[in-house]
Amino acid sequence: SSPLFSAIEMAPRDPILGITEAYNADQNPAKVNLGVGVYYDDNGKVPLLECVKKAEAILIEKYAPRTYLPIEGLAAYDKAVQELVFGADSAVVKEKRAITAQAIGGTGALKLGADFLQRFAPTSQVWISDPSWENHRALFESAGFKVNNYPYYDANTRGVNFAGMLDALKTMPAGSIVLLHACCHNPTGADLTDDQWTQVIEVVTQRGLIPFLDMAYQGFGDGIEADGKVVRRFAEAGGALFVSNSFSKSFSLYGERVGALSIAASSADEAARIMSQLKRVIRTNYSNPPSHGGQVVATVLATPELRQLWEEELAGMRVRIREMRHAFVAKLKEKAPAHNFDFVIQQRGMFSYSGLTKEQVGKLRDGNSIYAVDTGRICVAALNSKNIDNVIDAIAKVL
Ligand code: PLP
Repeated sequence: SSPLFSAIEMAPRDPILGITEAYNADQNPAKVNLGVGVYYDDNGKVPLLECVKKAEAILIEKYAPRTYLPIEGLAAYDKAVQELVFGADSAVVKEKRAITAQAIGGTGALKLGADFLQRFAPTSQVWISDPSWENHRALFESAGFKVNNYPYYDANTRGVNFAGMLDALKTMPAGSIVLLHACCHNPTGADLTDDQWTQVIEVVTQRGLIPFLDMAYQGFGDGIEADGKVVRRFAEAGGALFVSNSFSKSFSLYGERVGALSIAASSADEAARIMSQLKRVIRTNYSNPPSHGGQVVATVLATPELRQLWEEELAGMRVRIREMRHAFVAKLKEKAPAHNFDFVIQQRGMFSYSGLTKEQVGKLRDGNSIYAVDTGRICVAALNSKNIDNVIDAIAKVL
């Protein structure tokens, strides 16, 4: 055998995919997987949205040839996404100061941004929240950055350690790249208030930090408009701004890999130069994006009836998660009255940092076939009217 291969060690397993493997192997019919990052409907199924079905029916009728897309993706998609992210009537869009490139999901958008930044800000360091989506650190490190944490979650209050976060921002050198979750913080579900965002934007702007907003869950918090507000506020502040967004969750199009990277600059001329360089990053990476998912999303966003339908379906997902949060808290109040889970209602998005310890998560798994992440993160979107009583009984037992 080749010494090249014989020296290669086994990489550590992805912790979250490992949970799903263990869940799949479990024979208990009452098993529940709360470890995932996917929205399930009340029947425990990943939905195929009606707006997606209708858009696909329109697309199939066209039997269009499968040419390459432009390097930066489908123009209609990029335009629709940019307007969704910044607002069609925003100054950055009207003044053509923003660029948007279709990307391979939110992950691909983050990677494009990271590679672009590595090219033009190679001495900057990256700061992510403590904790953050696990892939943030790995992704920016693999692009060549040193990645640091800023304080974020406070286990005592089950909210944001805002003073700690702000202090950290105030000590970062100019040009530092600050990754922020635009809404529905993964994994904690704890978001900043409007007033806290005002203070963050002020410090970021004053110190010349580079904000990178990751928006993977637009529409899952308080609605499309409300969740996107922070992006608009950053854009209005006027500095350099990176935004990665994903339709994996909001369109239930996980496997189609639809996302985008947007960058807001201070002039149309700057934006054009940025786009020309971003295209080099894309071209040397995967050349151009796949077309199906982008066509679907562009069709839905640009067709008023389909867009209306999407907004309704997205609201349906958001409302169902919220109902599960309320049911979770109410049922635990009954079964485990000594414990207060009210914070679960305040949390936003698909996840809850439930406060369950690693040991309790182990007992849920081994004794009850209920799978969660060791950190206590549970996917509220995996609860439904059929499995919730099982889950509550098991949690009440292990508390
Ligand atoms: N960013 C965050 C915070 C996420 O939670 C996720 C997905 O779980 C992503 C980015 C990646 O999204 P995608 O699946 O579209 O690559």
